[in-house]
Amino acid sequence: MITRRKLLKKLSALPLLGGVLGTPWVFGKSSLPIQTVPGRNVIQEMGLRTFINAAGNYTSMTASLMPQEVMAAINEAAKHYVLLEDLQDAVGAKIAEHCHAEAAMVTAGCWSAIVLGTAGVLTGNDSKKASLLPFLEESGMKSEIILQKSHANGYHHALTNTGAKLILVETREELEAAINDKTAMMWYLNRETPVGQINHEEWIRIAKKHGIPTMNDIAADVPPVENLWKYNDMGFDLVAISGGKALCGPQSAGILMGKKDLIAAARLNSPPRGGNIGRGNKVNKEEIVGMLVALETFIKRDHQAYWREWERKVAVIAKEIEGIPGFMSETFIPEIANENPTLKVTWDKSKISLTGKELGERLRKGSPSIETISWEGEDYIRVAVFTLNPGEENVVASRLKEELSAVSP
Ligand SMILES: *Cc1c(COP(=O)(O)O)cnc(C)c1O
Repeated sequence: MITRRKLLKKLSALPLLGGVLGTPWVFGKSSLPIQTVPGRNVIQEMGLRTFINAAGNYTSMTASLMPQEVMAAINEAAKHYVLLEDLQDAVGAKIAEHCHAEAAMVTAGCWSAIVLGTAGVLTGNDSKKASLLPFLEESGMKSEIILQKSHANGYHHALTNTGAKLILVETREELEAAINDKTAMMWYLNRETPVGQINHEEWIRIAKKHGIPTMNDIAADVPPVENLWKYNDMGFDLVAISGGKALCGPQSAGILMGKKDLIAAARLNSPPRGGNIGRGNKVNKEEIVGMLVALETFIKRDHQAYWREWERKVAVIAKEIEGIPGFMSETFIPEIANENPTLKVTWDKSKISLTGKELGERLRKGSPSIETISWEGEDYIRVAVFTLNPGEENVVASRLKEELSAVSP
C-alpha cells in the first residue's frame, strides 16, 4: 500500500503537480470543486442502458429530466448550510403564494405528502400524539379515513402508513352513513373523478357540513397549469402533488399545500424532528430548492407553445407511419392525469401477428433504445412525446416505421 508520505513525494516529483500542490492536503473552500470539475457520467461508466423516453413520467424510468434552471439552483444550494426549518418556511410560503394556498411544504414525493398530511390531520399540533403514530388505539386520536372504492387503487395505501383505518364507500348515502366521531379525514383521488359517484364539490360540501378535513391527490395532474391552484380555490383542505412528474423537479420531491394549521401539523411529523413516522420522509435542501425552481419554471413557461410543440411531435410520428399496410394510429389526450397529446398505434390483428409487448420490446432492444407503453395482453402501443428531448421525435418516427414495415403484410 502506498502511504500518504510516499504519494506526496511521488506527486511533488512531477514538476507541475509539485508546484500546484504547494501546501498540499489543506482542505479549504477551494478544495470543494462544485463548479470546476466536469461531472462523471456514472451511468455510462457502468454501461447501463439509457433510452429515449416515449413512455411518460414513470418512476421506474426515473420520471423526468430536470431543466437547467433547476440543476443550476440545486448546485448553488449545495454550497451552503442553511437551517432546514428556515428553508421550508421560506420556500413553503413562496409555493403557497403561487398556488393560492394558505401554506405549503416540500415533501419527499406525492406519497410522502399524503403520509405527512394525514399524520398532521391525526396529531394536530401535539408532538406527544406524533410520537404515538401509527398506534392509534386508545391514543385519543381519530382513526378513520373515508374514500371512494373507485379511488382505492394503490396510492391510497399511503394513508395506512399513519395507522389509520380506511373506510370505502360508493354512494352519497354510504358516505353520510360512514361519517362518525372517529372520522379523521376524507381523501379524494383526482384522477379517478370520472369513475367515482361523488365529485369534488359534493365531497367537499359533505365534509364541510361535518367539519371533516379533505385531501386531494393530484400527483400527475398538470397540465393544465391551473390545476396547481384550482383545488385549493375549490376548498380542499390539503392538496398533494408529485414534484418529479410533469413539474420536472427532483423525482423524490413533492408538494403538500393547504390550510396553515394542517401544514404546521404535517411538519411536526417530519424532519428535522425524529421520533415520528415521518423521519424517513426527508427532503434535502437541494430538493427543496429544486422543487421551488421547478414549480416556478413550470408556471412561467409558455404552456400553449408547449402544447403546440407536443402536437407537432405527435404529427411527425403519425405522418411517418401513415400508410403502412395494416397499421393505424390516432392521437388522444388522456383524461386528467398526464393530460397531453399522445399517439396510440394499433393494427389489424387478422393480418399482423404482433402483441403490444412484442413491439415495445423491439423498440426497447433497438438502437437507440426507446421506451413506449404497451400493457400486457393489449394489441396497441402508446407513444408519449412530452418526455422527448428536442429532435428525438424524428428518431422515434423512423424506428417505429422500421419495425412496423418489417411485420407489415
Ligand atoms: C405518482 C403518484 C403518486 C406517488 O407520487 P410520488 O411523487 O412518486 O411519491 C401518488 N398518487 C398518484 C395518483 C400518482 O400518480
